[in-house]
Amino acid sequence: MQDLLPRQKEIYRYIEDVVRVVLESYGYTEIGVPVLESTQLFSRLVGEATDIVEKEMYTFEDRNGDSLTMRPEGTAGVVRMGQENGLLFNQIQRFWYAGPMFRHERPQKGRYRQFEQVGAECFGMAGPDIDAELLFMCQRIWETLGISDEIHLELNSMGTTESRAAYRSELVNYLEEHRDGLDKDSMRRLETNPLRILDSKVPKTQELLASAPTLTDFLDAESKMHFDQLRRLLDQNQLFYHINPSIVRGLDYYNKTVFEWVTDSLGAQGTVCGGGRYDGLVEQVGGKSMPGVGFAMGLDRLAMMLDDKFESTADADIYIASLGEPARAYALLLAEDIRGNLAHGKVVVHCAEGKLKSQMKKADASGANIALIIGEEEISKREVTVKDLQTGEQQSLNAEAVIDHLSKMLEE
Ligand code: ATP
Ligand code: MG
Repeated sequence: MQDLLPRQKEIYRYIEDVVRVVLESYGYTEIGVPVLESTQLFSRLVGEATDIVEKEMYTFEDRNGDSLTMRPEGTAGVVRMGQENGLLFNQIQRFWYAGPMFRHERPQKGRYRQFEQVGAECFGMAGPDIDAELLFMCQRIWETLGISDEIHLELNSMGTTESRAAYRSELVNYLEEHRDGLDKDSMRRLETNPLRILDSKVPKTQELLASAPTLTDFLDAESKMHFDQLRRLLDQNQLFYHINPSIVRGLDYYNKTVFEWVTDSLGAQGTVCGGGRYDGLVEQVGGKSMPGVGFAMGLDRLAMMLDDKFESTADADIYIASLGEPARAYALLLAEDIRGNLAHGKVVVHCAEGKLKSQMKKADASGANIALIIGEEEISKREVTVKDLQTGEQQSLNAEAVIDHLSKMLEE
């Protein structure tokens, strides 16, 4: 689990702000769901045979002996929340959320045990238009963040549970015949979750898969039509995509549309956002059948992409130095006065003793363009020395004139 240092945290905050503005401009409303849920919510909804449930969850018994899990993903909790609060039946909803997720994975670049996701989840809309809207929205986020050149869309359809089952047995037949060429992990998945083999990064397995039957050939008529319509909507909006039949996502609940947004600029951990349709989920938590579709983006990976471009706005604007006890007390009061009267600007007070020289070093380090200096002489004359830290020019102003002067300087 990683600590976020100030610059990193500022980037995360910036991304979240951009995402919030874009999602709200599409009419999505923010919700909050707990970090802890009952373990069986995830084992049922995400699926027993998935990597997440098999080996990645942080699960423990609480004081009542109930088995709880720190959420490894957001969708299951959102579906539970919607169902329990009567927000789904006969309604159309567009939700979004942000927060930490937890998976016990092998830590590496772009893969952490606590990571941040922003997700969107929509309910009550069965057609491809909402799938398209979600993708347009992602594209707008990449554009606003200035990284759309580095990200592309990979798209697939997983069909219905039935068409997938038909494909699954064909795939298993094919792989059984070529069992010798499979890696150990894939061998195990052949029994538990054969579709996940498509995801394998082992070169020999990938070779085998190149001539395996593809899911696309098994799609039912309705899923096919849905997929064709979605592609047309994307084409009309000039949103480019790759059809990638091996995108099957690591969670059991998807049907029809699935997608991943991928970048080449992060190395192996290149997926920054993944999602798709999950029309059967609401029924699984005891609701009436209700279509759903959504995505989750990983802020950690997006933040890594922005790291070398991001310009911090954390710098102070004004640094107040003071010499002697009365001046220190006055500095605090003056700072309050300035903050109360200026429309914007960061004011940092030197809250410690120190020689003027060392205080001015701190002023430089704070990034401020203006230093205010208050010493005994200034106190007795009711004046403040204003120093422009870029030019080095300084002047004495009476206390009343300072605020006016500062607001002019900050506007420039
Ligand atoms: P991956 O194939 O990279 O393991 P995933 O399919 O497990 O991804 P999802 O469950 O779809 O990931 O989560 C959506 C997004 O959340 C991912 O695309 C990624 O950006 C981010 N994410 C997932 N797991 C982690 C992690 N352990 N650390 C950082 N980000 C993650
Ligand atoms: Mg994963």
